[in-house]
Amino acid sequence: MSLRETLISQIRSEGPMRLDAYMSACLLHPTLGYYTTRPPFGAQGDFITAPEISQMFGELIGLTLAQAWLDQGAPARFTLAELGPGRGTLMADAVRAAARVPGFVQGAEVTLLEASPALREVQGNTLAAQGPRWIESVEDLPEQPTYLIANEFFDALPIRQFVREGARWRERQVGVQEGALAFGLGPAQPQPALAHRSEDTKDGDLVEDCAAAAPILSPIAARIASHGGAALVFDYGDWRSLGDTLQAVQDHAPANPLADPGMADLTAHVDFEALLGATAPCTTSRVTPQGVFLERLGITARATALAKTLSGAALEAHIAAHRRLTHPQEMGNLFKTFGMVPEGAPMLPGLDT
Ligand code: SAH
Repeated sequence: MSLRETLISQIRSEGPMRLDAYMSACLLHPTLGYYTTRPPFGAQGDFITAPEISQMFGELIGLTLAQAWLDQGAPARFTLAELGPGRGTLMADAVRAAARVPGFVQGAEVTLLEASPALREVQGNTLAAQGPRWIESVEDLPEQPTYLIANEFFDALPIRQFVREGARWRERQVGVQEGALAFGLGPAQPQPALAHRSEDTKDGDLVEDCAAAAPILSPIAARIASHGGAALVFDYGDWRSLGDTLQAVQDHAPANPLADPGMADLTAHVDFEALLGATAPCTTSRVTPQGVFLERLGITARATALAKTLSGAALEAHIAAHRRLTHPQEMGNLFKTFGMVPEGAPMLPGLDT
């Protein structure tokens, strides 16, 4: 049975599904989910992420984390963690670049949070030299200094959507209409978690809530605050989201999120206001456009150095990759980043407080 058929029969017997349950099933169903069944990234996959575009992305992240590690006294043993590492490319590039900093790679215990068994296997191959360890939850992060990266992880977490009706909200649900999956709205109910949205919304507006994000970020903030370390989060989205940002991508093109569950990537924009609300008691940087961050760290100098070894089509591709990562009309502005360090510690290079 396909995931579509499975979900239709489930909805017929149990009633409409919440959007977060639908997203979870599409992405992580144990046998039919998108991440569990396929390698989604790269030119052959459905979409491409920054570390898959160019090695420069992971290299600069490795160096900024290594500088933060030096700034905090270069602890001998520490966790070097990644959430949702995909193919392991970012971590591999980061470790290779940071190996220039004596002691960093030797002290790093590479620790990964990954839900997909298929991707764990790919990560194990890419990072064999680092001997990575996988954890089931951020609660399992060891009690030691923790340097952590998350790229396009929070956008894959399931969201709920609510449409305002007076002082109440109707939840968007997935039901079945004429044999096909279709969106509908549940009854109007009070939503205390959306109280802060009463000022900036009007009747008919749609807001999103990602309840899964804070329980992941808060324990990381707690580790970093008590043992030292830093976190660097990249994603696309903005401060306080408004409107429907759920999107499906299949074969590098937008798709209908209900058409083919489990066959397309599903994401939603990250609400950076909500993420930053879960970082106490750490200090966070400004939410900074990815292009600005990479330029501050010297991506253009690195691109120029790499270009010297390239020619022809490889050089063209390298120039296009630099542009794609940084240009405001490509990923430069849509993607944002912020850093998090213990109160009183210097902020990561490339980010202002
Ligand atoms: N960071 C990578 C991959 C981004 S795609 C890159 O930039 O290329 C999202 C990643 O998060 C995938 O590895 C996916 O399997 C993983 N993931 C999604 N939801 C997750 C969850 N709830 N827990 C752990 N990993 C998850």
